[in-house]
Amino acid sequence: MHRIFTGIRRIYGHYPATQTLVRGKEMQEVPFIDHAWLEVQNGRILALGSMDALPENNPAERIDLKGAWIMPGFVDSHTHIVFAATREEEFRMRIAGRSYEEIAAAGGGIINSAMRLRQTDEDTLYEAAASRLRLMIAHGTTCVEVKSGYGLDTESELRMLRVIRRLAANFPIPIRATFLGAHAIPPEYKENRQGYIDLLCRDILPRIAEENLADFVDVFCDRGYFTPVETLQICEAAAGFGLRPKIHANELGYTGGVQAGVKAGALSVDHLEHCGEDEIACLLNSNTLPVALPGCSYFLGIPFAPLREMIDRGLPVVLASDFNPGSSPGPSLQMVWSLACARMKLLPEEAFNAITLNASAALDVSADCGSLSPGKRADFLVMQGEPSLSIIPYHFGVNHVQEVYVGGVRFEA
Ligand SMILES: [Zn+2]
Repeated sequence: MHRIFTGIRRIYGHYPATQTLVRGKEMQEVPFIDHAWLEVQNGRILALGSMDALPENNPAERIDLKGAWIMPGFVDSHTHIVFAATREEEFRMRIAGRSYEEIAAAGGGIINSAMRLRQTDEDTLYEAAASRLRLMIAHGTTCVEVKSGYGLDTESELRMLRVIRRLAANFPIPIRATFLGAHAIPPEYKENRQGYIDLLCRDILPRIAEENLADFVDVFCDRGYFTPVETLQICEAAAGFGLRPKIHANELGYTGGVQAGVKAGALSVDHLEHCGEDEIACLLNSNTLPVALPGCSYFLGIPFAPLREMIDRGLPVVLASDFNPGSSPGPSLQMVWSLACARMKLLPEEAFNAITLNASAALDVSADCGSLSPGKRADFLVMQGEPSLSIIPYHFGVNHVQEVYVGGVRFEA
């Protein structure tokens, strides 16, 4: 396949191919080219430039985008899209005044999802996750991370990870799998926490490695879930199988999750609704990326992570959807973009960088995704009207993405 897309009003997100992220003040800028073309061969960007320098006598098939503007597809570095059932009954309980933690203590929350998932076969889980993924792609996501963590026993966790690998085999976008067996202590291990951690480390992890079912490991390091000491123990066992950590941290309190993640060499620490000076100082002295999930703050009514302060202090920040049935049942990174601007005071350009280039670093896919640069995948979104990165977060609740190209081919849901 060899194509040249012409008649592009503007290309946003044309970073040098070697640039893996932007930090601090750099996040305010997004490079663009006006009146442009983009050449694609075998799914990758070969070259791009302005129309007055369009290569002549090129044998590539031409596709005229007729004045549309484009940007790289979004990278969603934190999702839980494999689940058995929605949890709108818990939503009603929260509306009536009960907190997420109270509902979890009464057998709702993650445990509720686990009980339902254990009774659901692989094909049913696959079909439901695939339809969620099609919805995400239609809203502009062209690279995604998916976690296990609603199984909480050996067979159910492996089944979830097989579903994720099956999604990766059947969809044209890059999909990374994260083992989140340490999402909660299942009821049968309530009085034997160490027994469950041993099950994760000695039974499930070797089987994951044997079948190559995961790229990362995750632990919910927070109040009522796993302690920093337990988190480090699980990360160490996973490192023995080559899995790098991405940690759920500081959603429910100042619980040492950020520090544990940094100590374990995590690629990212995610959530961060409770983040103060100690956590920010710790991140500044690390290569661990902060990932905020404003859909969860919005939906649960909990604080938003202090991303404004993190950027002002010079950090590179990332935004993700946390798409899951309990705390963030929304597939759209355009909505996340809007929440980041309206509620966390990020500029539209900063939030754009946080769901494209920086998000690709948080998933270790910078060589393939996150910007429209020669050598990377030709995954891009087509928008109509006046080119503007502000219109998307401003005009919220609307899908601005007209067409999605994956590897230079239009994606049909
Ligand atoms: Zn999550």
